[in-house]
Amino acid sequence: MKPRPSFPARLDTSNDSAKPKALLGATRVVTPQTAMRGAAPVALASPTGVGLDSSAVRRRMVQKLAEQGLQDSVVLEAMGRIERHRFVDSALVNQAYEDTSLPIGLGQTISKPNVVARMITLLREAPGLQAAPGLPALPLGRVLEIGTGCGYQAAVLSLVAREVYSMERLRGLHDKAKENLRPMRLPNVHLMFGDGMLGYPKGAPYSAIIAAAGGEAVPQAWIDQLAVGGRIVAPMQTTAGQQALVVIDKTPQGLQQSLLEAVHFVPLKSGIA
Ligand code: SAH
Repeated sequence: MKPRPSFPARLDTSNDSAKPKALLGATRVVTPQTAMRGAAPVALASPTGVGLDSSAVRRRMVQKLAEQGLQDSVVLEAMGRIERHRFVDSALVNQAYEDTSLPIGLGQTISKPNVVARMITLLREAPGLQAAPGLPALPLGRVLEIGTGCGYQAAVLSLVAREVYSMERLRGLHDKAKENLRPMRLPNVHLMFGDGMLGYPKGAPYSAIIAAAGGEAVPQAWIDQLAVGGRIVAPMQTTAGQQALVVIDKTPQGLQQSLLEAVHFVPLKSGIA
């Protein structure tokens, strides 16, 4: 059995966005009565409790990512800061820091932490961002994300990019992401409802485009909206009918494409719903 995070599976689901959604910073006192009723948490002055538990679990998640070979400290720090449990259903909170994708409603999933970290690391490795050998990568400029889903990856991106434009084709998830992100107050995240296969020309050119849904090919609109020196990282169907990550660099000499490891993303679909 893997150790499970110890913070409670039930979070505050009230609509009061001024209040932190999770019970961070508050200690829940469980008496036999409250345990039976699932009663409201009792806040104490002490800053110990679930808040610290959640950051400890997140630190373990980051440590595991590093052990899996993800070494970009900027990405790892961002993964350590964004509270993934805020983005999943309260019934799944105790799995939020496991390296697994989880359902977010409407048949869609939040990507595995490993895949989120891997794709953002690849974005930061774009040739256009390398100032000089041995020096850290330059920060990402404007990034377009296709497939906002619950908003988790957009939040991680907001810590490593100047601006994040994120598109979602399902109204229900676009709304859910807005609700999830509102209390986090990330002024550089812009959520758009629309078909991401068309990109978002108003924010172009982008220094990076990242897709969380995989199609048969990378849409021409993404290539057109990518800046020279920019990079696309996306899942794409391979000839064997499977999916793999594809990296496309737009260089002054033209496009360069490489196929990387196999992945499993939800399908990229056209239109809105
Ligand atoms: N990055 C997300 C992962 C969401 S799963 C997260 O952190 O939760 C991928 C999402 O892509 C789904 O919500 C799906 O509805 C969306 N999607 C698929 N095709 C799309 C398209 N053409 N435009 C915008 N979003 C799309």
